[in-house]
Amino acid sequence: MQALARVAHETAVAPIHPSVDKVLLVEDNEFNRDMLSRRLKRSGWQVEVAGDGIQALEHARRGAFDLILMDMSLPEMDGWSVTRLLKENLQTRSIPIIALTAHAMNGDREKAILAGCDEFETKPVEYSRLLGKMEWLITGKEL
Ligand code: MN
Repeated sequence: MQALARVAHETAVAPIHPSVDKVLLVEDNEFNRDMLSRRLKRSGWQVEVAGDGIQALEHARRGAFDLILMDMSLPEMDGWSVTRLLKENLQTRSIPIIALTAHAMNGDREKAILAGCDEFETKPVEYSRLLGKMEWLITGKEL
């Protein structure tokens, strides 16, 4: 591995996020939303939040987000429907979406992938694993 490539690699996996990438956090549970939002900001992410599916659509369409964390169980419109609409739209389809769901065992992962989610994380979120997936989606697939 070339020295420069190694430096880039080490930077990409550093615990503190190196750039100011912008994430949309969609979560209707206020406690979970505030906690995750605070942790992401401490890790160097720029965070905007949405508390229901309609808000999520509106935010995603007018913010230039690098990534979306999408709770699947949401009021107004569920996360699967929001994801499907975002992935059908040329303007938003390239934004990576990580599905968050409390239900690991009932086919939610398959439903999330079918809706167009790029990754999947079960709640309660294991933070370091989630960060790893976020970094991986942002920096490309080479890690
Ligand atoms: Mn929810």
